[in-house]
Amino acid sequence: GNFIPPIKSNGGNTGNVTTRVAGKSDDASDDSTKRCLEMLCGPDGELPEKLRNLEPRLIEHISNEIMDRDPNVRWDDIAGLDHAKKCVTEMVIWPLLRPDIFKGCRSPGRGLLLFGPPGTGKTMIGKAIAGEAKATFFYISASSLTSKWIGEGEKLVRALFGVASCRQPAVIFVDEIDSLLSQRKSEGEHESSRRLKTQFLIEMEGFDSGSEQILLIGATNRPQELDEAARRRLTKRLYIPLPSSEARAWIVHNLLEKDGLFKLSKDEIDTVCSWTEGVVSEIFPALLVFSSGYSGSDMKNLVKDASMGPLREALKQGIEITKLKKEDMRPVTLQDFENALQEVRPSVSPNELGSYDEWNKQFGSLS
Ligand code: ADP
Repeated sequence: GNFIPPIKSNGGNTGNVTTRVAGKSDDASDDSTKRCLEMLCGPDGELPEKLRNLEPRLIEHISNEIMDRDPNVRWDDIAGLDHAKKCVTEMVIWPLLRPDIFKGCRSPGRGLLLFGPPGTGKTMIGKAIAGEAKATFFYISASSLTSKWIGEGEKLVRALFGVASCRQPAVIFVDEIDSLLSQRKSEGEHESSRRLKTQFLIEMEGFDSGSEQILLIGATNRPQELDEAARRRLTKRLYIPLPSSEARAWIVHNLLEKDGLFKLSKDEIDTVCSWTEGVVSEIFPALLVFSSGYSGSDMKNLVKDASMGPLREALKQGIEITKLKKEDMRPVTLQDFENALQEVRPSVSPNELGSYDEWNKQFGSLS
């Protein structure tokens, strides 16, 4: 889709054809690459040793697409998950803020795994860690390494760790890490994905033994797929479960308040929370989960849908969308949530929940 056919150069020499990539002229992309490299140079104006053998376009890609200097998420933006916040503060944030104290026996692990159902705040935690520890945040989805960067994944991984080491303290967040470090040795496993995995483990080993201030956070919805080598390197493994009732109430309250739509009473919010609770057997709660509760992201979608209620109603009364004023719309009501429940269903299946609990008991960091 980004392909732009070759164009003739302006020089009038018909034989001289210039190619352009993704809508940028060569000059523009050269300039942007140069700027990225300049930003990574040390005080002596030289590029750090680690980056010298890397391809400039990969360094540029990491700097522009994967690196986020201010992820703009703080602990207060995340509902619930007190256990995870406490563990992460002790294990990651304090050591990043005070490396002088956290050495020797106190030296922290460099790998953290966040596992649990999708949409429960794992990425938010990664961003908040970087925000709270004033670290540079690098976000990469492992599946993009194996799909988009076929054959180049290894080089990109090397560039990623190289740039991170020049931007310390750094947090590298690898989403869907299972697709990179999976234990499956399927017949279809390509040589290239095996090499990618090896490169990744080598890079992790490298900074694990050194004094670098880099933390690797892996996130996965399928922890069972991780192999033993991956588990060994991700020393702390935290279960990020579905939100509690209080956390769900917080999300509803917060989102509506932000938009100035908040009019629900506490009892009404409690009602929304009870509607979004999972149903488990009273006799065998661990074994029989009839329906799962809503994730944080499901709750967000529910609020979004409910907040459309007043708008739909105003339009039904014949007001034109172009003439609609904010005052024409009533506040969001409990009835809007009841309607939205028909549209937005929980995205996690009961079976999945059971398997997270199992894995947590076996491999999770429980305290
Ligand atoms: P995950 O990485 O676990 O799949 P995300 O962190 O990307 O999930 O969350 C997706 C969205 O869902 C977030 O942008 C946020 O709006 C909402 N969300 C999920 N969990 C929470 C939470 N605990 N507190 C506040 N919002 C949440």
